[in-house]
Amino acid sequence: MEDVFSGNDSRPLSTRSEEVAFRSKFLLLAMLAAVVAPIGVPGRHVPPIQPLAVFAAEPAVGMLTVQVVDEAGKTLPARVHLRAADGRDLLLPGQATRQSAVYKGTQPVCGDWFYTDGSFRIEVGVGKAQIDIAHGPAYSTVHDIIAVQPGQNSEKTYTLRRLIDPLAQGWYNADEHLHQMPDAALMLGEDLNLAAVPICGGVELSYRPHQRVTPLPDANHVLVTQLPAIEWDCFLWNLPQPLELRLGEEPWPRDDFATSDRPGGSTDLRTSFVVRTPFLIEQAHAAGATTIAYMHDPPRLWYYPLYVANGWIDVYGVLENSYCSIANRGTEADFWQSLDRHGTNGSFGVWYRFLNCGYRLPASAGTDNVGMGVGVWKGYNRVYAKLDGPLTVENWLNALKQGRTFVTNRPLLFVTVDGQNPGSELRVKAATPLRVDIHAVSATPITRVDLVYQARVLKQIDVDPTTELRHIETLTVPGSGWLAVRCLGRGDNPNLSPAFAFAHTSPFYVLVDGQPIRSPEDARYFHDYFSAFMKRSLPRVKNEQIRRLLEAKCRDALAKYAAQADSGEDFPDFPESR
Ligand SMILES: [Zn+2]
Repeated sequence: MEDVFSGNDSRPLSTRSEEVAFRSKFLLLAMLAAVVAPIGVPGRHVPPIQPLAVFAAEPAVGMLTVQVVDEAGKTLPARVHLRAADGRDLLLPGQATRQSAVYKGTQPVCGDWFYTDGSFRIEVGVGKAQIDIAHGPAYSTVHDIIAVQPGQNSEKTYTLRRLIDPLAQGWYNADEHLHQMPDAALMLGEDLNLAAVPICGGVELSYRPHQRVTPLPDANHVLVTQLPAIEWDCFLWNLPQPLELRLGEEPWPRDDFATSDRPGGSTDLRTSFVVRTPFLIEQAHAAGATTIAYMHDPPRLWYYPLYVANGWIDVYGVLENSYCSIANRGTEADFWQSLDRHGTNGSFGVWYRFLNCGYRLPASAGTDNVGMGVGVWKGYNRVYAKLDGPLTVENWLNALKQGRTFVTNRPLLFVTVDGQNPGSELRVKAATPLRVDIHAVSATPITRVDLVYQARVLKQIDVDPTTELRHIETLTVPGSGWLAVRCLGRGDNPNLSPAFAFAHTSPFYVLVDGQPIRSPEDARYFHDYFSAFMKRSLPRVKNEQIRRLLEAKCRDALAKYAAQADSGEDFPDFPESR
C-alpha cells in the first residue's frame, strides 16, 4: 500500500474530479488488491498485500490546498518549505531540488523548498506537516503545523503582511552574486528586484562586454547575466568595450606564469591571480567598468590594498560568500567576532580597516554558489539601493557607487544622518551634534542596534524584540570618521531567517573641521600585510618585465599606507556606551 499511496514523488492529484474520487478510488483499489494480489501495475512495483490488513488500513496521504495572499487578499508568489510528517521536504511537480549547491559533507542550512505563484495543491503524507512561507524581507512570514488527515483535503489560506513598501521610497534590492539561473517564479517568489549571474571562471587575458539585461518578468525585476568577472576579485559592470590585457604600451607577454606557492606544485590557475589580476582590474576600471569587489576567502587580502589605494574598486561586496555560513552557525560572540577588525573569518573587519583609512567603499551583497555550499535560497544576502528613477542597471550602479545602500540577510534598515542618505559626506564643526534617524523593519524581531564610528561601537541600543523600530539618536563624534548603523535579530527557524539576521548601512563620511578620515594604526596594518605579501608573491612572477612594473605599482601603494601610518596619532579610543 505504501508504494501506491504514499506520494513518494509528491504527485499532485491535478483535477477536481480526481480529488472527489480520491477516497472511493482508494477503496476500489484496496478491494481489487485484496482479490488479485499480488498485482502488477506498469511502472510500479506493488508488493503482495494481506487482504485483512488492507481493509483495516487508511490511505497514507491527504491533500493540501494552499492560497498565499497579501492583506488585500491578492495572491502572492512565495517560497514554500513543506515538510511531511515523515521528515521529507516536498516539492511541487516540475520543480527540482533548490539545494543543488550543497557541497559534499556540508549540512544544508535549511529545508528544501519550492516556489508557488500563490496557489497550489499537493499530496502530503498523513500526520503533522510543517509549512514555512516567505516572500522576501519586506513581508511577514508564516510558520504553521498542519494535521494532514488520511484521504481528506485541508484548505489553508495564509496572509503575509507587508511590513513596508521599499519600492515606494525608491529602495530596490539585489543579489549581485549568483551562479545558478533564477527564473521568473524565483524573482517573484523572493521579491528579488535584481539578480546578477557573473561569469566566474579563470583569470582571462581578454574580457568582452557580454552583460545581458532581461526584465524578468517585468520592469521591477531584472536579471543580469553574462556579467564579466575577474575571478575572486571583482565583477566588471558596464564594461564599455572589449578589453585586451596590455603591459604598458605593449601587448601582454605570453610567458606570464608564476611559480607555485606550494613546494612541487604546478603553475596552476591560481598563479595567474598573482600575475594578471592587478593589471586587469586597473585596466578594466580605467576602461570605464564599474568594479564591485568580492573577497572570496576573507581575509585573503592579496592585492586588495593595491586596488583600494588606487581607487580601482568602486563598490565593496561585504555581505558575501562566507556570511551565509557565518550567519547560521556559532554563538553570538562568534558572529560579532566575524565583524571585528581583528577577526579572521569575515570581510567586514577588512572593510572597516579600509574605511578607517579614509577610503570610500560603499557596501554591496551577494549570495554566491549558493551561499558557499550551505544550500540557501538565491537572494539570501541582498543589497538595497535607493535609486533615482526606475530600475535600470545604470540607476542601480549609480546608487551603489554613491553608497545609498544597506546590506542585509533579513532586516530592512533605513537610516539618515542630518537628513542625508548613506554614502553622504557631512562637513561639521567640532562638537556639532548629528541627528541619526533609524527606522528598522524586520520579520525576524530586532534586538540590538549599533551606531558604529571608525569601526568602534559608539552606541549600542538593546531593545525588546520588535518587528519595527524607530529611534532618533543625537550624537557628537570624537573626530573625522565614518559612521554606519547595523542591527541584529535572532531567528530560530532557518527556513525563514538566518540565526543572525543582520543589516548594515553603507558609511556616512563625517569630516570634522575639514580634517580627513585617517587611521595610522590601520594604515600600518595594510602596510605590514602588503609588504609581506609582496615579498612572498613578487619573486614568483617569472617574467621580469611584468615583475618590475608590478613591483612599481605595489611600492606606490605601500608608500601611501606608510605615509598615513606615520601621520600622527591613532584615532582616539572612546568608551562604548549603552
Ligand atoms: Zn562566485
